[in-house]
Amino acid sequence: MRIDPNKCVACGNCTYVCPMGAIYIDPVIERATVNRDECVECYSCYNGLSQEHLNPTMVRTVRKIFKMMRVRFDPEPDVCPTAAFEPEELVWPRVVRRAFSDPRVPHESTGVEGRGTEEVKTNDISGRVQVGEVGFTIEFGRPGVGVWFRDIQKMCWALAEAGVSFEKKNPVTSLMSDVATGTIREDILNEKLMSAIVEIKVPVERTEEIVRLVWRVEKEVDTVVAIGVGTRCDENGEDHVVAPILEKLGYKLERAKTNIGLGRITNRSVEQPYAEVVRK
Ligand code: SF4
Ligand code: SF4
Repeated sequence: MRIDPNKCVACGNCTYVCPMGAIYIDPVIERATVNRDECVECYSCYNGLSQEHLNPTMVRTVRKIFKMMRVRFDPEPDVCPTAAFEPEELVWPRVVRRAFSDPRVPHESTGVEGRGTEEVKTNDISGRVQVGEVGFTIEFGRPGVGVWFRDIQKMCWALAEAGVSFEKKNPVTSLMSDVATGTIREDILNEKLMSAIVEIKVPVERTEEIVRLVWRVEKEVDTVVAIGVGTRCDENGEDHVVAPILEKLGYKLERAKTNIGLGRITNRSVEQPYAEVVRK
């Protein structure tokens, strides 16, 4: 994202909209400026502010006159009065920033939509997490924090060394140059994202080991890391297998997403067992 200094009147409205704090008023040129390193190309500034097309010279003059009278003249807070934003044509590798930071765009660069997959939400149909297995989502970054691909790679290396399998349809996996070692394409390592999710699956017995691995690597990366755990409930809708492991590790469990079976398989014959269709 770029701001045209010829149009910007330094009202400051956009500095409050940027979730990464990447826009600042440059005191030398007295214009809003985008810090390109920190900008994750989320387009919140461009899409979040109404673009008015007032004449910049006129707005600056009016602001100066009012200032001399010790009166502030500011545009409405949700407006860029002079339509100063100029989205750049994003090319590789910078385009991956947008893929992981702007939920409104298709993800051509990764070939996968969204930051992660549907994970447990579609487990009825995908059958990705079976009885005896645990699905992990390891989420990096947040608005205001972000994450560099080089830090995601540190976690992927450690997970690969532990012999886990990465979810094939996940966007981060699609950007690995070597899935076996968890190595991410070298040309995107210095790209920053709002957030990203790595997805893996392991047998239940490895739950504690993986949580402890994430805790260890988390200390070595310059971002926040959140762990999500997906598991199957028993016939009573309860989980007495994975929950005790997590509670032992100090977690207070809350159910986040519960799949109640709305994603039913519609193309199975009455005689065909449900589990058989899932396996196929
Ligand atoms: S909202 Fe527009 S005019 Fe105001 S500081 Fe930002 S870019 Fe400049
Ligand atoms: S595109 Fe997003 S991160 Fe970049 S300056 Fe605009 S709001 Fe900030």
